Amino acid sequence: MNKDKIWLSSPHMGGSEQQYIYRAFKENWIAPLGPNVTGFEQDIKDYLKEDVFIAAVSSGTAALHLALLMAGVKAGDEVLCQSMTFVASANPINYVGATPIFIDSEKETLNISPQYLKKAVQKRMEKGKKPKAIIAVHLYGMPYKVKEIHAIAREYDIPIIEDSAEALGSSYEGQKCGTFGDFAIFSFNGNKIITTSGGGALITKNQKLKEKAIFLATQARDDAPYYQHSEIGYNYRMSNVSAGIGRGQMEVLDAHVNLRRKNNKFYRNLFKEVEEVKVFCEPEKQYFCNHWLTVITIDSNNNMEWTSERLREHLLEYNIESRPLWKPMHLQPVFASSPFYGSTVAEDAFKSGLCLPSGSNLSDEDKERIGAAVKSFFNI
Ligand SMILES: *Cc1c(COP(=O)(O)O)cnc(C)c1O
Repeated sequence: MNKDKIWLSSPHMGGSEQQYIYRAFKENWIAPLGPNVTGFEQDIKDYLKEDVFIAAVSSGTAALHLALLMAGVKAGDEVLCQSMTFVASANPINYVGATPIFIDSEKETLNISPQYLKKAVQKRMEKGKKPKAIIAVHLYGMPYKVKEIHAIAREYDIPIIEDSAEALGSSYEGQKCGTFGDFAIFSFNGNKIITTSGGGALITKNQKLKEKAIFLATQARDDAPYYQHSEIGYNYRMSNVSAGIGRGQMEVLDAHVNLRRKNNKFYRNLFKEVEEVKVFCEPEKQYFCNHWLTVITIDSNNNMEWTSERLREHLLEYNIESRPLWKPMHLQPVFASSPFYGSTVAEDAFKSGLCLPSGSNLSDEDKERIGAAVKSFFNI
């Protein structure tokens, strides 16, 4: 048996990344600014095909922090946040001293539930506190219910921060994820759809907001010949070396989205005969998912041998990495005191779900090994 580990989602270089880095070295742009940074921002803007403005920063988490600051969220405020997500969606709420209010998922996309979102807005307003922002996530690249969620945000006039960390390349009704929110963010961490080794981007709707974001991300320095500061700033700008990786990665983004979508097709085919397994895919035509990670849920009611945890352990014996879904935030010890609106959709998905190897660099041989391991588990 081939002993090489099959990873969940590992970096996949396109080939030209090193040329951009070479140029950065040659021109001595080894700094958190330079032609790769502005070039990368332009590449993303061109890709999104909407009238948006991009600020490249050091991480997706930093971009979320900046988005909350720019949305005017302050200490003591409340922010509504999808519970089923990676902790980085919620942590920045605490950075600004606000309180996260967590919302359950709906079953079709596993993202923020319109029903419970609306309920939470009403209940918080009854308590005399109108939430200052909504953080909605396109989990595993699957667009959230854009129409319904944005209708609620409009009705109550609450800004949406669109966490597109996992959804670069996804779209809804032909419009790219990352262009719907008042603010949006991408992540270019090592395991995301494309990577800059570490990095992120903030997407805003006009040039002034972009400039404000860059001002905050570069220590909020006043326009003076000396170092004068009238606001608290941050050191959040992206490195010109990292941005070089990003420029190379943008050249292969669409090709890599296609490969991940092929992986999803492979899994749908593989599990066709296993009634208990549901491969998570687009619920309707208007959704286009990059399938950053392919997710399955296992209905183990009839057979407790077939749990997601057992499958995870079984795959590991074959040196294949898989991973539980994000543990919902309202079940996290660190957020134990935060309010939650919902039932058990996120919790059930967490208990029965598993993320399978989904990298754009999965080889046919890797898929054969995964197929064999899965078949031996389900006796097919
Ligand atoms: C990765 C991720 C982030 C954070 O991005 P970093 O670049 O790792 O800081 C935020 N939200 C979600 C949903 C993510 O998956």
